[in-house]
Amino acid sequence: MAVVPGRPESAAVLEMPEPAAADGSVLVRTHAIGICGTDVEIAAEGYGWPPPGEERLVLGHESIGEVIDAPADSGLRPGDLVVGIVRRPDPEPCACCANGDWDMCRNGLYVERGIKERHGYGSERFRIEPEFAVRVDPRLGDLAVLLEPATVVAKAWEQVERIGARSCFEPKVVLVTGAGPIGLLAALLGAQRGLETHVVDIVQGGPKPELVRELRATYHSTPLTELTGLGADVVIECTGLGEVVLGALRAAAPNAVVALAGISSRAGTVAINMDEANKNMALRNGVMFGTVNAARRHYEQAAQALAAASPSWLRRLITRNVHLSEWPAALRNEPNDIKVVVDFGAG
Ligand code: BGC
Repeated sequence: MAVVPGRPESAAVLEMPEPAAADGSVLVRTHAIGICGTDVEIAAEGYGWPPPGEERLVLGHESIGEVIDAPADSGLRPGDLVVGIVRRPDPEPCACCANGDWDMCRNGLYVERGIKERHGYGSERFRIEPEFAVRVDPRLGDLAVLLEPATVVAKAWEQVERIGARSCFEPKVVLVTGAGPIGLLAALLGAQRGLETHVVDIVQGGPKPELVRELRATYHSTPLTELTGLGADVVIECTGLGEVVLGALRAAAPNAVVALAGISSRAGTVAINMDEANKNMALRNGVMFGTVNAARRHYEQAAQALAAASPSWLRRLITRNVHLSEWPAALRNEPNDIKVVVDFGAG
């Protein structure tokens, strides 16, 4: 599954050599690859970087595959289902990467499989270092293709709780903005914490409202300005759109923690009275923070969250399967898409 970043018409199935031994000692047969906004942005907008000296990037950072070969001391065996960790620490390494917190890399010299300077997992076979392969419960099967997006929200929740611990923090209400895969998984983790969970999105039809209701959460397609009375103690913003970020801030209760977990490629402008926003945040102990990527412990946290979720609910997040031979179709947004998955026909 390769593309020249910024040239969507170049998206194609490419013949590549067998994965290089330098990629890692564990050989994996790919079952499926999830597609997300980042992949679309790489193809359409030129986010993403091929390995140095190469023109194309093999996509695929949301993976699930089966170990074909692994060294005896790797802790992995043929047949194990594994998900690849996306980021690799910088070679220097910075203090965060040295601590295993590559998701907090300070110098930007990290690489990301399928995104930044290293090919992704979107090939029939890939190699990986054992310490970057996460074994998943076989009962989850190929639904574990949802693990990587779940790690992003597992990190967001962990950070919310760590930040909340600065003082008395007894969250009751969470507001999630955006009901894409990240928003729905963020809502799942909110509901699993026993919180009163609200999700707001612009769509009124399709599968999203029902998926939210099944979490015993409340779905809103009303403007955010109507949700200021909710008193959200936690807001997980998953759209990356300026006007929604602003609305999310206004919906936050005193002492609330607002996580910015969404990224948008739109270059819109939103007018904001920063003096006023500053006063509101300072007088209400407000926190707004950004969160990206995930460390190994977030993969473990996400695996637990998925194991505790209803498999039929998780299955319905995957609204479209596209065979590898037609994978560029997965980059095109269709009505009612939530998660689109490229199927390698190997499961
Ligand atoms: C991935 C992250 C990655 C981020 C920025 C997201 O789509 O899930 O792992 O760090 O993009 O490249």
